[in-house]
Amino acid sequence: MPARVSPSSTTVLAVFAHPDDESLLCGGTLARLADSGVRVVLMCGSRGESGSISDRALVPDGDLAAVRSRELLDAAAVLGVSEVLIKDHPDGELRWDDVPEFHEEIVSAVRIYRPQAVITFGEDGLYWHKDHIGVHERTYTAVKSFGADAPPLYYVLMPKGIMTELVAAAHAKSNRAHSPSLWGIEPDAFGDGAVPPTFSVDVRKWMPRKLAALRCHRTQMAASNPIAWIEEDDARRWLGVEYFRRSPLPCAAVEPVLESFGEAVSSQ
Ligand SMILES: [Zn+2]
Repeated sequence: MPARVSPSSTTVLAVFAHPDDESLLCGGTLARLADSGVRVVLMCGSRGESGSISDRALVPDGDLAAVRSRELLDAAAVLGVSEVLIKDHPDGELRWDDVPEFHEEIVSAVRIYRPQAVITFGEDGLYWHKDHIGVHERTYTAVKSFGADAPPLYYVLMPKGIMTELVAAAHAKSNRAHSPSLWGIEPDAFGDGAVPPTFSVDVRKWMPRKLAALRCHRTQMAASNPIAWIEEDDARRWLGVEYFRRSPLPCAAVEPVLESFGEAVSSQ
């Protein structure tokens, strides 16, 4: 279906918790939007300074926050993101710390950029990650505060099983010393609590960019992570479709930007 919106006058704001969330969850969609002329603004609530490091040599002075911020800017450039707003809230404490400040930053971003769509995590935080759930809560509350003038809010979701299949396929193909591991997270945890999506965006053509963006996050890309070395065809198969659901919050009557790039997913 052709896009009915005028991309050149359209802005999409994406709000996530850590560097790499944007690329994993909806890197393809962000790149596809950007390629269509949509201004993509990305807000990241933390600098990811508390995560484990794939290779200490990448952080010679120990300033992980600075290195991860640089990696995020590199990934955003690959995806065609226009503006990156990196916030300094404490990684690991996003659900509880700086609640009014973070709320106000999202409200300000909506006021300044006037997005026609806001994207964030679903209620499940992808795998019940507390920071992700915190960002979902902050974004929901911030968008809700606009009442009937709010931009439409979208949750990006990952159906359960995708990462399990990806890891199984990687395991079958791998002759590497390490067992495939996705950031140390149980593959079945991804999407475990996801509410079914209502539409999907086909990003198979954007897979080289999505993979390149994911691989910009080098301090998070251990050799055991299949995403570091998965072949493009395999990546297309499991990561080539991104899934969304629109929040039922009241919102302004605007042309649905994201849906115009997507296809309905039937609930069965
Ligand atoms: Zn994250």
